[in-house]
Amino acid sequence: MSKRDYYEVLGVSKGASEDEIKKAYRKLAMKYHPDRNPEDKEAEENFKEVNEAYEVLSDSSKRSQYDQFGHAGMGNGAGGFGGFGGGAGFDDIFGDIFDMFGGGFSGSRSRRPQKGPDIKVGITLDFEEAVFGVEKDIKISRDEECEVCHGSGAESGSDVKTCDKCNGSGQVRVNQRTPFGVMQTVKTCDKCHGEGKIVSKPCKACGGKGTKRKEKSISINIPAGVEDGNVLPLRGEGEPGTLGGPRGDVYVYISVKSHPFFEREGTNIFCEIPITFVQAALGDEIMIPSLNEKKKKIEQIKFTIPEGTQSHQTFRLKGRGVANPMGYGKGDQYVKVKVEIPKKLNDEQKELLRKFAEVDGEHEIHEQGKSFWDKVKKYFN
Ligand SMILES: [Zn+2]
Ligand SMILES: [Zn+2]
Repeated sequence: MSKRDYYEVLGVSKGASEDEIKKAYRKLAMKYHPDRNPEDKEAEENFKEVNEAYEVLSDSSKRSQYDQFGHAGMGNGAGGFGGFGGGAGFDDIFGDIFDMFGGGFSGSRSRRPQKGPDIKVGITLDFEEAVFGVEKDIKISRDEECEVCHGSGAESGSDVKTCDKCNGSGQVRVNQRTPFGVMQTVKTCDKCHGEGKIVSKPCKACGGKGTKRKEKSISINIPAGVEDGNVLPLRGEGEPGTLGGPRGDVYVYISVKSHPFFEREGTNIFCEIPITFVQAALGDEIMIPSLNEKKKKIEQIKFTIPEGTQSHQTFRLKGRGVANPMGYGKGDQYVKVKVEIPKKLNDEQKELLRKFAEVDGEHEIHEQGKSFWDKVKKYFN
């Protein structure tokens, strides 16, 4: 099943402003909201789809990620960009929906499950790895459930008591004096910090936190064609959420090492090939480096220097560039030849060149040079 384009889901253009996206989302979320469509499976699917699209397009970094890589950049790579399993952006979206359905919930916002913090990691790739794609292991340090107390933070089950201040609800009502009189508001319980439970004897292994810092290795599939500065998201691999909320995400920041003879700009690659002035004048067939996407390596291919090639002339080898990480199209390779004039010649070579000049007509200047000197003459006259 192919996923629909997020812009299409929200019915907005690719260039839509934040406001247009928000408006479109609100309209559709209202339309498909489960409260308005009880037991309607299709509406439920639509509601999920709309939320997913909004989660990405409302976040500028996720949106640019999506613009660059499409769905491929958003999830479901092998061992990797784990889809929307955890429901990233959970908090924002539900906050919005609560607001939309007419206040009343504002006091309970802090009690709602919160998505865990995101983790940022950097990774450095070789030129070849970025161009051809690669599977890499990254190490992250994050909180994992304590295996002794299984997350409860207590020494044993009997050491967890319901909070007596809030009776387990995690919230307390407080009277607040305001210019409009005394108002009652709902606040997170300060005794249990909203947990609804009090641990009398904390777990020794984790000090009562319920979690322990651990190193985790995650294998990620980096798609062919990524560039320096790209960011890959790994959904639901970040820090754990609170009150049952989903884990945060991991963002992998990519930097790419430079290559000894290739330069890259987007999907195009550039190289400079030195040739002799004899090769330039007479033409030749030489071997030059180029990308082989199938073999995932740089190989030597045949390249024909045409007769009469000029120094700094650039040749385009179509489709020999880098794959587009979105999955469509490929860039080109540009080969710039640089004609090298020998700095040292022996007597015999000098003699041959003098003869060449004589045959050519000693003071004749070639076409390109001529037009330049013509312009100079004109300028000074
Ligand atoms: Zn523990
Ligand atoms: Zn409490």
